[in-house]
Amino acid sequence: DTYKAEESRYEKMQYRRCGKSGIKLPLLSLGLWHNFGDHDNFENSRNILRTAFDHGITHFDLANNYGPPYGSAEKNFGKIFEEDFQKYRDELIISTKAGWDMWPGPYGNFGSRKYLIASLDQSLQRMGLDYVDIFYHHRPDPETPLEETMGALDQIVRQGKALYVGISQYNAEDTLQASKILKELGTPFLIHQPRYNMMDRWVEDGLLDTLEKVGIGSIVFSPLEQGILTSKYLDGIPEGSRAATEGSYLDRSQITDEVVNQIQQLHEIASNRNQSLAQMAVAWLLKDERVTSVLVGVSKVPQLKDNIEAIKNIDFTEAELKKIDAILNY
Ligand code: NDP
Repeated sequence: DTYKAEESRYEKMQYRRCGKSGIKLPLLSLGLWHNFGDHDNFENSRNILRTAFDHGITHFDLANNYGPPYGSAEKNFGKIFEEDFQKYRDELIISTKAGWDMWPGPYGNFGSRKYLIASLDQSLQRMGLDYVDIFYHHRPDPETPLEETMGALDQIVRQGKALYVGISQYNAEDTLQASKILKELGTPFLIHQPRYNMMDRWVEDGLLDTLEKVGIGSIVFSPLEQGILTSKYLDGIPEGSRAATEGSYLDRSQITDEVVNQIQQLHEIASNRNQSLAQMAVAWLLKDERVTSVLVGVSKVPQLKDNIEAIKNIDFTEAELKKIDAILNY
């Protein structure tokens, strides 16, 4: 079937300016870390992407090694892109990254110029794209000089292979350093991608302040703590969930009695707000204007629709915020 995007898509979403740039991002973006590999259902992956775009989600986030196997999320995205989204290319922000292990030997990991440039060439080929909108260094590399890694990002932009660059998982100090180097080089440094959710608030300890000062935006990953901040684990670990899946980054052992107790209490606050817990978790992040976009992952279309509804209420009372902090020991 030929895909035609929902006409009213831009009325369904809101957009925030990414730092001091010309780019606005949707309040929710879609991540392809899970559910787009070769072992996942291709039609399901396609329906997730179509549903996202139909709701005004203009930003899809990938990385070289998303799958499994590595590279397969980009390859499957490329197939879907070619059939469904080619005609919407200029309405989309597509990102990819390099920085974690990708291929064997010393040149397929970390932060060398050699690795980053080769990896983006491979990514473009897998996705069937001439350029990505954002290319990220995926994590800090303590052994490679920051000048080399930032120089590679700069060169990638000058080669026309990315329009903007970003960094992920860098602390506040390294972010400031990176931004100085990129500023000197004249590289369009758009965005930082940190981990942030109600249960993991490290970015509040300096990073968000730094981003605001430097004028770059943020897109936050694992906003639902990989599914813990939803109603999924309220009564045990359902089959097919991430915690039930061997080899995933969410282990059963993380769903402790204490965690279940916390999410039960959070669920009650969410219900009083007429929201699902997932919606409240997304809204809680969006209450801070420095968060440009919340980067969700979903294994099913209904999850995505659930999460998108969050934007209908992103205001919290002081009392609600205090209760949430108390439950999570903040
Ligand atoms: P989330 O915290 O959003 O977790 C996603 C998972 O939560 C889903 O796969 C699903 O799990 C469950 N879920 C989502 N919505 C609902 C819902 N409404 N109801 C019930 N369950 C729900 O994010 P991720 O950890 O997946 O990260 C999101 C994206 O961030 C990634 O795809 C990637 O693009 C990026 N990322 C970047 C990193 C980096 O280093 N820069 C690191 C990690 C992620 P289930 O499978 O159990 O149904």
